[in-house]
Amino acid sequence: MDTMIVIDPIPFALDAASLTERMCLTPGTEDARELEEMIGEATQTAKPKAAFKECFVEQKGKDTVTVDGVTFTSLALRKHLQAAERVFPFVVTCGREMDRVVYAKEDFLKAYWWEEIKSDLLKIASDHLTSVLTLKFGLGKSATMSPGSGDIDIWPIEQQQPLFSLLGDVDDAVGVQLSDSFLMSPIKSLSGIRFATEIDFSTCQLCRRNNCPSRSAPFDPALWEDCQP
Ligand code: SF4
Repeated sequence: MDTMIVIDPIPFALDAASLTERMCLTPGTEDARELEEMIGEATQTAKPKAAFKECFVEQKGKDTVTVDGVTFTSLALRKHLQAAERVFPFVVTCGREMDRVVYAKEDFLKAYWWEEIKSDLLKIASDHLTSVLTLKFGLGKSATMSPGSGDIDIWPIEQQQPLFSLLGDVDDAVGVQLSDSFLMSPIKSLSGIRFATEIDFSTCQLCRRNNCPSRSAPFDPALWEDCQP
């Protein structure tokens, strides 16, 4: 059984100019200065982290994939791992440390900014993991699938359980816990399996949600049809 590799903390530099623009603030105003102070506090507080394993696919069934003795059920995952032998199950997170700073309800604007800072930390952690997999593990062009991402039956969120069990003690390693409904805490965490692929793929192609601000690729009806259980 492969061992879990932990990156803690992940180095980061928050981009104040980009956050200021995204929050629709004018540089030099009081609001922009407050945001900058919060970015300073986050820089002192945050410890984004990643945990992952290098694993090999043992078996592929009709709609199942077995990795290190753990079987996942998802036709979409099975199809996208058709050519993959090596996979990288992972969890990345903005880090529990950021949840220790809590803003009062009436401070909803600051609470919103803090959540956006956490989102940026998660993106930094995710990009850092990808660069580690590229530089140290020779992973070329790759894609990710995550339980619960895309339409509900593409890879059901309940499959977080086997994913976490494949990784090991994720809570001890990076402080990410699974709730009874398989949601992660901290919320600004991402789990999944990263794998080599020659085709451009995003689970957004398998998601019919309208008006999603995070959509990275248009819905693909033919691919969706092909991945229905
Ligand atoms: S469209 Fe939005 S909700 Fe759907 S998979 Fe993409 S990011 Fe997630």
